Amino acid sequence: MDLSKLNPPQREAVLTTEGPLLVLAGAGSGKTRVITHRIVHLLDKRPGGLLARNILAVTFTNKAATEMKERLVHMAGPRAQNVLVCTFHAFGAEMLREDIYRLGWPKKFTIADQGDQAAIIKRAMRERRIDDRTFDPRKVLTLISKAKNAGKTPEPLGEGMGDDYDLIAHMVYEAYQLALKAQGSVDFDDLLILPSRLLREHEDLRHKYTQRFRYLLVDEFQDTNQAQIDLVTLLASGETRNVCVVGDDDQCIYSWRGAEVRNILSFDKYFAEAKEVRLEQNYRSTQVVLDAANAVIAKNPERKAKKMWSERKGGERIKVVTAPTEEEEARYVATEISRLVAGGVPADEIAILYRVNGQSRPIEEMLREKSLRYEVVSGSEFFDRREVKDVIAYFKLIANPRDETALLRIINVPARGIGDVTMERLVAHARRDSVTLWGAMERAEGYEDLPKGAAEKVKDFLQLVERYRQGYETGKLAEVTRKLLEEIGYKDDAKSLITSQASADRKLKSIDQVINSLEAFEKREGPKASLLTYLNRLSLDTRQEEEEEVPGGHKAVTLMTLHASKGLEYRVVFFIGMEEELMPHKGMQGEAQNLEEERRLCYVGITRAKELLYLTRSAMRVKRGKEVPRTPSRFLEDIPPELVEVMDLDAPRKGPAGDQEKNFFANLKERFKAPGTSGGVAPGSKPTVGAPTTGGAAATGTTGGVR
Ligand code: ATP
Ligand code: MG
Repeated sequence: MDLSKLNPPQREAVLTTEGPLLVLAGAGSGKTRVITHRIVHLLDKRPGGLLARNILAVTFTNKAATEMKERLVHMAGPRAQNVLVCTFHAFGAEMLREDIYRLGWPKKFTIADQGDQAAIIKRAMRERRIDDRTFDPRKVLTLISKAKNAGKTPEPLGEGMGDDYDLIAHMVYEAYQLALKAQGSVDFDDLLILPSRLLREHEDLRHKYTQRFRYLLVDEFQDTNQAQIDLVTLLASGETRNVCVVGDDDQCIYSWRGAEVRNILSFDKYFAEAKEVRLEQNYRSTQVVLDAANAVIAKNPERKAKKMWSERKGGERIKVVTAPTEEEEARYVATEISRLVAGGVPADEIAILYRVNGQSRPIEEMLREKSLRYEVVSGSEFFDRREVKDVIAYFKLIANPRDETALLRIINVPARGIGDVTMERLVAHARRDSVTLWGAMERAEGYEDLPKGAAEKVKDFLQLVERYRQGYETGKLAEVTRKLLEEIGYKDDAKSLITSQASADRKLKSIDQVINSLEAFEKREGPKASLLTYLNRLSLDTRQEEEEEVPGGHKAVTLMTLHASKGLEYRVVFFIGMEEELMPHKGMQGEAQNLEEERRLCYVGITRAKELLYLTRSAMRVKRGKEVPRTPSRFLEDIPPELVEVMDLDAPRKGPAGDQEKNFFANLKERFKAPGTSGGVAPGSKPTVGAPTTGGAAATGTTGGVR
């Protein structure tokens, strides 16, 4: 490998192959590059007869994993194929597939998605006589997940502390866990926790895995939570302890999923002998972009100060743009993109970033109007569609007959005359006889409280599922699925239930998309493809849909949340909605800690840009039919005025003096005349007083392709 393509500290990080190593450095300094080069270096040197399969690289998203793998194969050739590159969750799922039976789960376990989790937690609440309309089951789940990721069980806080939810989480936790296990499922958190348990409790497995993975590499280490750290320390508990982690404490943006800045800052707590390397040169952005990013992040207290510099001196000034309305903001962005693309910037070098998923809608409309291709790195929206969930529930039940949530979902979809009363009785029998619901259904004919007709219908259903279970074992996934949907009349049913043609079309289209994705999966995996492996992949990778958006592999503009943009880079970035309540997000302003995280998010967004950065906002938005004036983001105030070019799209129509935003720009321009002098407090930067934090980032739908 050509080491000359690395700067001296990067080279040091690549060549220090033995023992624990921490690379702590700012955005765009080549941390991810260090990881790929280190792997290639290891493959070249083969220390101790090392093979590709002895290397494990953990990335934060599936997309990042795929890209890193491609890069490795490109650099090192086919021998890199056997390097395992995946996310923590995918790695956990892989481990569990082999060894989960040691913990009492069936080998063919399924992964519960959010819908399944909600169904289970509701049941657990009802069993404890807790009303799931008074208390939001999702909040209970959030608390349980938090506790699990911290390696704890939910505990009620002392008298006068915490609230009812802490108590409820504590009360239903065990029932939730037991129900998951009884139906042969695990949730996402279990994908991290159960592997650790396997390693802790079974010495032979610890031996097997520490022998196998002799070199560990973790990207984006600042966003690991306790469960992930536990897994890393266990995997690195052999003799070698060759673990290299890279990250940037300023880019820790997943604290709502339990990530903690201190994990990276106290890496030596886990690996006392760890060596540390700092990188200071930024290769990604122009000095202008970098200075803006540095100025914004500098305001965070308690950070490890970094000096970052770029050889790409100067650069185009940052465009700070105010549009009168959300539509005008979207129109401006789309028009600029048209202009840039016409001027030769490839569309896939342009990204539009936003804080919450909902912000993409007006932009999408404008892009469509201008016939610009785009892809939305969406969250799990596709998999939240009812028809997709139904089809997946069939898959889950066929792969794992214990999966009670899947069973209850589709037992009467399409209607086959098995009503609620029948199912309630069967569930009662199952509980009393300590068998699974499926087991109780097998005994249906023997239960006296079930009418003969009902028992027969149940039997027919079981036979149907059994038949398809065999069908999937021998046949092609997509083909068998087509047959199954035909036989149960799912499409006709979907059509008949819906009055509007448009929504019927959409339904049928999403079912076809599932079948397409099965086909693509079979093509990729070859003979290894099974319904169960497909399901596991699906749960871990909710990025199937957006591939549909761009047929023929044409270049497209990328739309995504700030959270999803981690690690990526684009020549041109549009960072939209630079307003208070969006950036920082409402509900995040109250607590200092959250405001710090919002600032880190802003830093992540800015540092995605290589050459050109737009920071746009609307002066007014319509909310519930009312026009609401918007205040510029306080973060805009932190960017030195000499770095920005201010543009007001509505300047000719501007109202009299005293207008809030006019002040803002007067202020900016004032500062622009006299660089160095602080412009004082912007109208936007209110003191941070008690805003509610309920919902939090977790509720803002930022999980885009992250698992
Ligand atoms: P982030 O914190 O955003 O994840 P990072 O530290 O992982 O950023 P990389 O993505 O690895 O940074 O690198 C940023 C860009 O700089 C990439 O395009 C990379 O190829 C380039 N780069 C890094 N190091 C060098 C180098 N020594 N010479 C030339 N280009 C480099
Ligand atoms: Mg990176």
